[in-house]
Amino acid sequence: MDFDLLIQGGSIVDGSGAAAFSADVGVQGDRIVALGALPDAAAANVIDAAGRVVCPGFIDAHPHSETALRGNGDIWGSVLQGVTSHLTAPDGFGWAPLPADECAELWRSTAFAYGQPDLQPEWSTIEDYLGGFTGTIPINVVPMAPHQPIRFAVMGWDDRRPTPDEMDRMRALTRDWMEAGAVGLNTGLDYQPAANADTDELVELAKVVREYDGIYAAHIRYNAFGKPAAYRESIEIGRRAGIPVRLSHESVDAETEPLLEEARREGVDLGIDWYLYPAGSSHLLVWLPPEEQIGGYDATVGRLRDDPAHRRRIGSIIEGQIRETSAAGGREYFSATRTGQHIGKSITDVATERGTSIGETAVDLIIEESPDAVLVFRRGLTAEVFDALVQRTLAHPAFMVASDGLYHGALPHPRGYGCYVQVLGTYVRERGFVSL
Ligand SMILES: [Zn+2]
Repeated sequence: MDFDLLIQGGSIVDGSGAAAFSADVGVQGDRIVALGALPDAAAANVIDAAGRVVCPGFIDAHPHSETALRGNGDIWGSVLQGVTSHLTAPDGFGWAPLPADECAELWRSTAFAYGQPDLQPEWSTIEDYLGGFTGTIPINVVPMAPHQPIRFAVMGWDDRRPTPDEMDRMRALTRDWMEAGAVGLNTGLDYQPAANADTDELVELAKVVREYDGIYAAHIRYNAFGKPAAYRESIEIGRRAGIPVRLSHESVDAETEPLLEEARREGVDLGIDWYLYPAGSSHLLVWLPPEEQIGGYDATVGRLRDDPAHRRRIGSIIEGQIRETSAAGGREYFSATRTGQHIGKSITDVATERGTSIGETAVDLIIEESPDAVLVFRRGLTAEVFDALVQRTLAHPAFMVASDGLYHGALPHPRGYGCYVQVLGTYVRERGFVSL
């Protein structure tokens, strides 16, 4: 027998940017050992790929899959789309290395993305954490150093600059992750506690990453800075630390295209990724100003529960934002909740049912359904505007596909299950927005 597996007659698209070519592929064990015309080869398994494309597995740079892969959710949603590698720590989320009580506390504040808020994980070393993937999952996991636990381990929820000693300890933790095989640093600057970091702190950590040829990846400060300033902070980090930058869930439009060009002019390798759906997904605190989220879920919910004046103020901020979004044709609905109620409904729907104001209902729902509630947000875009956005984004050289997949809850955003299929089926094959 020449090979364990022979893939015959396919059109090979190898991911290098080269044109497709016809060839057979011979595989032994986990290696491709032959590529070309292999008409007389014998193999234990033969796949007839005539009329089909054969290509390397896709890399998903931003899936919230880590705990699903470890048995707390769907492990197949991604691999069934042809994805064979996941990067970890999207939005800087991670929980190692932390002592058990701190690990559980930080875990609760990320439960909207992973479910199971009462889990008591014990990942006191990076090796404990990464060891949990070995031999049990259908894909490759490539670690990124998660900024959230790196900052939490040293500074807790503190909203201040680190002392020199604290900065040294965060550098050391980042180095530990890089030594453990991480390929970069990932952060989420709308989320606690990473939102409390300033640009200098991120530059210092990115400099450690540069020693390992890693990258800096971020969910930027939409909430605190707005897009242009948040892009410019990322460009500054890339320039000062001398490393490539990748921004998550970003698209190419009239506002961002000049910013991508600005990065190029400054010599910063700036890339973006997105899942190409007309809706996003995040937690209920997404409407709160960053300074109102300090301390994570437990502190934020505590303030809302205990202080009526604060409650009213936050309620009116949220109501204003919901009304503005719905006036533009947008809508939010629950995809997961703590109680299992309200799935598929908007906050306005629940307010109507209860006979309470939208703001009051929103605050009540934060208290009742946190921390594992998730909303899907449909943006108020017409089909024409959205199509143009997709086409412009897909065609841009700085763009890569990444799912931002969420794998828990009753009605998760379909991006984690469909974004690669949609790109290939709808945008490449049917509509011809880009070629393979
Ligand atoms: Zn994000």
